[in-house]
Amino acid sequence: MGKYTLKCLQCGSEYQGDYRLKCDHDNSFLRANYHTKQLALKRTKGMGKFYDWLPIHKQLDTDAAPITYKSEELARELGLTNLYIGFSGYWPERGALVRTCSFKELEAHPTMQRLKEAGGSAIVVASVGNTARAFAHVSAMTGIDVHIVVPHSGLSRMWLPEEPTDSIHLIRMAEGNDYTDAIYLADRIAQLPGIMSEGGAKNVARRDGMGTVMLDAAVTIKRIPDHYFQAVGSGTGAISAWEAAIRLRCDGRFGKHFPKLQIAQNLPFAPMLSAWNAGRREIIPQIDMPDPKKDIGEMYADVLSNRAPPYSVTGGLFDALSATNGLMYGITNDEAKEAKSLFELLEGIDILSPSAVAVASLIKAVRAGNVAKDDVILLNIAGGGTERLKQDYSLTMMHPIASAKNPDVPLDDLIQSGKY
Ligand SMILES: *Cc1c(COP(=O)(O)O)cnc(C)c1O
Ligand SMILES: [Zn+2]
Repeated sequence: MGKYTLKCLQCGSEYQGDYRLKCDHDNSFLRANYHTKQLALKRTKGMGKFYDWLPIHKQLDTDAAPITYKSEELARELGLTNLYIGFSGYWPERGALVRTCSFKELEAHPTMQRLKEAGGSAIVVASVGNTARAFAHVSAMTGIDVHIVVPHSGLSRMWLPEEPTDSIHLIRMAEGNDYTDAIYLADRIAQLPGIMSEGGAKNVARRDGMGTVMLDAAVTIKRIPDHYFQAVGSGTGAISAWEAAIRLRCDGRFGKHFPKLQIAQNLPFAPMLSAWNAGRREIIPQIDMPDPKKDIGEMYADVLSNRAPPYSVTGGLFDALSATNGLMYGITNDEAKEAKSLFELLEGIDILSPSAVAVASLIKAVRAGNVAKDDVILLNIAGGGTERLKQDYSLTMMHPIASAKNPDVPLDDLIQSGKY
């Protein structure tokens, strides 16, 4: 018997764990049901220590992993006694060695491993930056081909801590295309023979990889936190934290409660916030994102722009928020920038703009009384340490091998212009 089965959260169908992304009968999420119910950390470097609850059959070869530590300075500033920081990025002084500087790398390692075990040799991802770096880095490490579709706004983030390899195929989209256009084009490329979709939030390897942030927090704190703070664009990280908490409850050693998901979007683009506050499972574009291109253009943390997030789907963000009695916040650019300075000053590490949004939401929550002074809080700093990284590594840029005017470009043209 395999290590896990996949269970459809809608109809209950079960599947053996291959590289399956969806149920045969509906579009709901599948969830990995691991046969090992008590987490036994493996003695290995990196996130492979959570092997029991990752959908892979061979150990990962990376030293990248999330870390958790107890905050002193920011905690004092906010009057909190049990504030823990989950950090996914580069901060060697604290043992954090995620060299692409975001928790997307926690998704990329198990996803590429799962693909390889299923006999796949090439994957396509859409990204405004952090996901691209993560998958490109794993491609450089493993030789597995990755095709990356990036909108123009993400090009400056296409750096790597190593020399790019021929296994990385970067496709740039012209100005005027956003992240969702990139997702659309990536979906089309996934139809080409030999190329597999990474599946986004539908891929349990992505979710359970990101879920290691919650696992690391629970084993460090020795209990499930009372609150979980994160900035979201798709919400996948928050869904993953909830699913990790479900497994931890079942484990029995970390408490029987759920962490209250307290998650934030960056105004003015906040479709999930708008739908959630209206009590709706559906996102209604006319109401929740009336002018997406304009609003996305005004975001400080444009990594958080996603016009088709897994919010309504069974097992998605609406369910995660409902199950944990969650809350959502809208954070302005100014609030985020102010929070970034405060965090960097007090904690001593640089953070990415989405993480600044997360810090700002914690500040709001404290002011609103949505956390109590002694509650155990996990603040997910999902990206940071790029300035710190530059002290130790010289970064190199990935170069596009093809350009796309819009998401409907004929794939033949792309293929001819690129090294396909
Ligand atoms: C992708 C990303 C997010 C948002 O994550 P989701 O859970 O997928 O919405 C937040 N912070 C950073 C640093 C990210 O890279
Ligand atoms: Zn089903």
